[in-house]
Amino acid sequence: MDWKEVAALIFSDVKEDVAELEARYPRRNLPEGACVTRFAPSPTGYMHIGGLYAALVSWRMAAQTDGVFYLRIEDTDAKREIKDGINQIVQALHQYGIEFDEGPFDPEKGAYGPYIQSQRKELYRAYVKRLMEEGGAYPCFCTEDDLAAIRKEQEDKKEDMGYYGSYARCRELSPEEACEKIKNGESFVVRLRSCGEKEKKAVCHDLIKGDIELPENINDVVLLKSDGIPTYHAAHAIDDYLMGTTHVIRGDEWISSYPIHEQLFAAFHLPLPKYAHIAPIMKSENGSKRKLSKRKDPEAAVSYYSEQGYPKEAIIEYMLTIANSDYEEWRREHPEADNSEFEFRLSRMSVSGALFDILKLNDISKRVIAEKSEEQLFEEIRIWADQYDATLASVIRADEEKFKGSIRLWKYNGKKVRRDVAKWSDLSAMYPYLYDLESEVASYEFDETTQAEDVKELLLSYLEEYSFDVDAEKWFEDVKEIAGKKNYCANKKEYKANPEAYKGMIADACGMIRVAITGKKNTPDLYSIMQFIGKERFEQRVRTCVEKLN
Ligand code: GLU
Repeated sequence: MDWKEVAALIFSDVKEDVAELEARYPRRNLPEGACVTRFAPSPTGYMHIGGLYAALVSWRMAAQTDGVFYLRIEDTDAKREIKDGINQIVQALHQYGIEFDEGPFDPEKGAYGPYIQSQRKELYRAYVKRLMEEGGAYPCFCTEDDLAAIRKEQEDKKEDMGYYGSYARCRELSPEEACEKIKNGESFVVRLRSCGEKEKKAVCHDLIKGDIELPENINDVVLLKSDGIPTYHAAHAIDDYLMGTTHVIRGDEWISSYPIHEQLFAAFHLPLPKYAHIAPIMKSENGSKRKLSKRKDPEAAVSYYSEQGYPKEAIIEYMLTIANSDYEEWRREHPEADNSEFEFRLSRMSVSGALFDILKLNDISKRVIAEKSEEQLFEEIRIWADQYDATLASVIRADEEKFKGSIRLWKYNGKKVRRDVAKWSDLSAMYPYLYDLESEVASYEFDETTQAEDVKELLLSYLEEYSFDVDAEKWFEDVKEIAGKKNYCANKKEYKANPEAYKGMIADACGMIRVAITGKKNTPDLYSIMQFIGKERFEQRVRTCVEKLN
């Protein structure tokens, strides 16, 4: 008896052999240099910002070489799966403009499917069958208890963990013994008969990190679990070959698995793809760098950016800035260009991990928002509010034209475009006073040094003397005149030369009026706010403030 017979017994369900399969999945006919990349998430629903980052990189590599970018769902670990997990991933990427050429959509796109691993069982089994026929794989009958005992012994003896050497008991079973156990109905997994040697090195020619030397894999890793489903390792090699992947771009937590993968490609007689391992996105904390953590950092989840209302272009622009160090320079030279014109290179990615800086993201986002037309802003805010901010959504529905007016109010300062909204949730500081969402201003951010008496005095004389229906210029002239009488200086130089002689500057007087009607120190243009809320509400708010100061 030989391993062929054991394989025939185990894999009686396998209908096609490897040669037939490979004919069914012909090599892709693509131009020289075209990259075939993939995004291969597990359908856990949660999308880490690092996943979006890796997907973006893979997508760019394919797009700029006229290659193919596909989605493969790695659902071999059913325990981690959530209902609708696939859809959530596809939606998240779609939201950021990352589109797949192929994948498990409805209807499926592409000729290399199915693109969901749980539907590819027979393909994996055909390869593992052939490997077993060649003596490169064997059934292992060790129980959970057996494996726990092996682990314990290795721990006690401080030896490397794993199923290897004398620990790999089932490796020595003869085909007859294996057959008998199978016929007796014993549960088993299928393991690789590793030909790795402890002293030897596997070298990963990584396109981001350069050559990485790792110890060869000596472990007889599991290829098929007891339910016949492959492990990630086996499925990765077979799928990436059959689907024609040229570049495996993935997180660098997988580097330690590289020696296994290299061995598996060889065992299955498959050519090795190129590898690029992306360093994780890091966060600076107390002077040191650490990985952005799902548990500790809300900004680690892609959903955070949608909830906050960052425009998708800002996220992509920021990701490109941290992905390739020369992107910013390119952007300065090509302010108008579509980012797809930038030539992205894996070799220019950070080896140790790009630092995530939310302030920088905010800056980029402000620029992106400033460039959008009022119509675009209106549409995007409306869609965002419908999903994330019910109060704002009802304000918009109540009077769309008026709402557009409020966009103009924060977007412009005269003719100049302002840049101080980074995300739609920032707007929530402004809408209460623009739309009376709270019955009255809840608290006033007056400077600590400001005297209540001075504020009252200024507000009352302003109310008495000002005119509402004037243009911005005349309005400011009036403020200067009224505040001037109360000893607020209109000239910076004069004030600086002799500050004790004045109550403050005109800007301080404007600040008082601003806080009186909005509660806040920082707001869009004061004149525009007054015009937006109208004379009656303006005066009423000033009076309320004076009353509260009494
Ligand atoms: N399914 C793996 C994950 O969830 C993907 C690893 C790979 O890209 O090869 O991270």
